[in-house]
Amino acid sequence: MTRDEINQVATDLYKKYNTLDPYKLCKELGYEVIHEDMPSRLRGYTNEIKRIRFIHLNNLKSELEQYISCLHEIGHNVCKHDDNIIFHSGTTLHVTSKEENEANLFIIYYLLAPYTPMDLHGLTKEQIADMIGIEKELMRLL
Ligand SMILES: [Zn+2]
Repeated sequence: MTRDEINQVATDLYKKYNTLDPYKLCKELGYEVIHEDMPSRLRGYTNEIKRIRFIHLNNLKSELEQYISCLHEIGHNVCKHDDNIIFHSGTTLHVTSKEENEANLFIIYYLLAPYTPMDLHGLTKEQIADMIGIEKELMRLL
């Protein structure tokens, strides 16, 4: 998907469900979220059983990390990465595959959805990252 398409999907989801809470969004989209202990190198992954999507999050990560990982997994799902949903490793934010970048762009666009260009005017990428609560490193995608 192009950046504009990802932005559009993220903005539409925000407008439709009016929440920034990824867990509420999962509920709306019919995804089951499972918090479970995993090896520390893993953040989370998605799988599908009997046509139900399960987003698994590493319970040993901080709440914020799980929140971001949940948005990342939603990103894979709404960007239709069907061939790539089975497993995503803990290096999620550091790898450069097209799908991973798209899922990470989804996080950014989704969390920016409530803001207008005027709100963001004059802010650096670092300030925007702080404002929406994501790792500054992710902002390199914008
Ligand atoms: Zn991923």
